[in-house]
Amino acid sequence: MTTLPEIAQLGADCLRQPARPVSVFNQELADTLVAVLATTQGVGLAAPQIGVSQRVVIVGSRPTPRYPYAPEMPPTVMINPEFQSVGDARVKDWEGCLSIPGIRARVPRYPEIDIRYQDLTEVWRQTRLTGFIARVFQHEYDHLNGMVYLDRVESSQDIVTEQEYQRITST
Ligand code: ZN
Repeated sequence: MTTLPEIAQLGADCLRQPARPVSVFNQELADTLVAVLATTQGVGLAAPQIGVSQRVVIVGSRPTPRYPYAPEMPPTVMINPEFQSVGDARVKDWEGCLSIPGIRARVPRYPEIDIRYQDLTEVWRQTRLTGFIARVFQHEYDHLNGMVYLDRVESSQDIVTEQEYQRITST
């Protein structure tokens, strides 16, 4: 097996560039994203995080030590994804990012969204996401626009270290 790419870390140019729409569907890229995500305790990954400027994300949720209460969702490849919020209100909750190790922050996100994306057979799919999975989707979607979750934090006081996060959420 070939070596998996490393996950780009905050400061890398590829995390700050808008990704290009996908016209040629690439099974190998999708497989690589799934394989890289599987080596982590993360619940989502966007192509720019492995240096590929294409509008592809993976959302795959399962309980891990990093997210002990995460719901089960098999890793799903979403190409050219879009979304609309169901309501206007946002809810603040904790996020982290594989590209920003050691940090967690509370981020406002829409708790319910309608999404559409193309699968690897180029078929458009649509579904409604709620709660944690809706949050993961919005986090990964931001990566496609050169944004990271810290850009959406309302106050620097909503940012904590991983160690403090573990302490806060275990009590
Ligand atoms: Zn991220």
